[in-house]
Amino acid sequence: MHDITVALYLITVLLFIAGLKLLTSPRTARMGNLVSAVGMTIAIVATFLGYWSELSNWTYILIGGILGSVVGAFLAYWVDMRDIPQFVAILNSFGGAVSALVGAWAIFNMDKVKPAFASTGLFVGSVVADAFIGTIAFVGSVIAFAKLQKLITERPVVLPMKNLLNVIALILVFVFGYLLIQNPHNYLYLYAIFALAAFLGFNVTMAVGGADMPVVISLLISYAGLSAAALGFTFMNYGLIMVGSLVGASGLILTRIMAKAMNRDFWGILLGNITPPEMATTSSDAAFYEGKVKSTSPDEVAMMLKYADRIVIIPGYGLAVAQAQRELKELYDLLTKDGKEVYFAIHDVAGRMPGHMNVLLAEVEVPYEALKTMDEGNQLLEGADVALVVGANDVVNPLAKEDPSTPIYGMPILEADKARSVVVIKRSLSPGFAGIPNPLFIRDNTVMLFDDAKKALRAIIDAYKEL
Ligand code: NDP
Repeated sequence: MHDITVALYLITVLLFIAGLKLLTSPRTARMGNLVSAVGMTIAIVATFLGYWSELSNWTYILIGGILGSVVGAFLAYWVDMRDIPQFVAILNSFGGAVSALVGAWAIFNMDKVKPAFASTGLFVGSVVADAFIGTIAFVGSVIAFAKLQKLITERPVVLPMKNLLNVIALILVFVFGYLLIQNPHNYLYLYAIFALAAFLGFNVTMAVGGADMPVVISLLISYAGLSAAALGFTFMNYGLIMVGSLVGASGLILTRIMAKAMNRDFWGILLGNITPPEMATTSSDAAFYEGKVKSTSPDEVAMMLKYADRIVIIPGYGLAVAQAQRELKELYDLLTKDGKEVYFAIHDVAGRMPGHMNVLLAEVEVPYEALKTMDEGNQLLEGADVALVVGANDVVNPLAKEDPSTPIYGMPILEADKARSVVVIKRSLSPGFAGIPNPLFIRDNTVMLFDDAKKALRAIIDAYKEL
């Protein structure tokens, strides 16, 4: 490989690291995307430069490049914001498939592509790694896509003796991997590894419910990154090794953040044991709330807001369902124009994908200064006049601190009840994702506004303007 290619790969990696850093804040996220895109362009140019003399069939390369660009641009423009998780899943499946297929191609053409200095064991071992991890990422991501797109059941499908089957499959992969290293021209071993990896990807992902998919997807992204890094070893391509490792590590970090915010066992997730929470029954919920809930009206809420100085808005999944972000921004503008301090407290796992609330609020141009993290939000809730909970449930559920028997016990929450008054906008007393009742709804300082978030916010805005 030319020195210039290696130098350009290094620049790519530095740009990716800078891009990741910029992506950590909504204020700089757009720039982060741009910087990473420049890095990717440099990587493509570097690859062409590095392999120029070996490239022959330009027709295929051009057709592939144009087709990929058109499909990518089309998807990026037309995919609805709510469909981003499945969009990410299907894109990730392409990454896994490419690693697995190119790895297989490398074995079929071993005599031509094996770097002279690499031992056969190292070369075949790296192919086994990229074929195995890439196939898991591919099959797992396709199933995640199908579940989120509701093409197959969203419910967890758990095979009998699931964990035992996974362990047996894993042991067999090592056995066939060893046999392939001994006899690289017996492709049956490679096909067996593909089949076992496909089974593992299927078995692990099918066992997870649709709403937990974003955690699985972040894990599968990390697998796709690791398979690309393994592919880098196959071809001794430093760019792939560095970028694959970066993707592998950042996917793992995201999985860890989400596991912590959802109070799930990180190692359990890594091994494919993502236990869905038990669903509470409606009848027990009815008994829990009976006679203790105070409902309110948009007029009353408008009045509370009129007399408040500091308001902390806590958005949740219901905001996305209702697509009420425009109304929420309108209310924000109205309140800030009246000289009130208004903040949005955003829980790490509010909604159904990482950054879900940030994406919705950025779409309607809520100023970045108003967006607060969980810790900042909790500080601001202390001494706030009104906590306005819009379609959130689990992320404000005090049971997470109070009841060790609930599935969310230990999950950090936004402590809405620290505010003088709490207004909760939701359609009914139905539970959130965790399927458990929420004592916040029956606290002395809580009132409930039962309606679709969009309609409720519109009515509050109209009532506020009348005051
Ligand atoms: P929840 O799922 O806990 O609650 C959402 C609430 O929104 C429901 O109780 C529902 O009540 C209400 N709602 C639904 N539609 C509307 C509507 N049109 N108008 C008003 N309200 C509506 O959401 P949270 O955001 O509080 O918590 C997220 C949960 O999802 C957490 O348990 C988290 O662990 C989990 N999760 C998050 C992921 C992520 O990446 N962010 C990934 C996977 C899981 P009602 O039906 O009565 O209106």
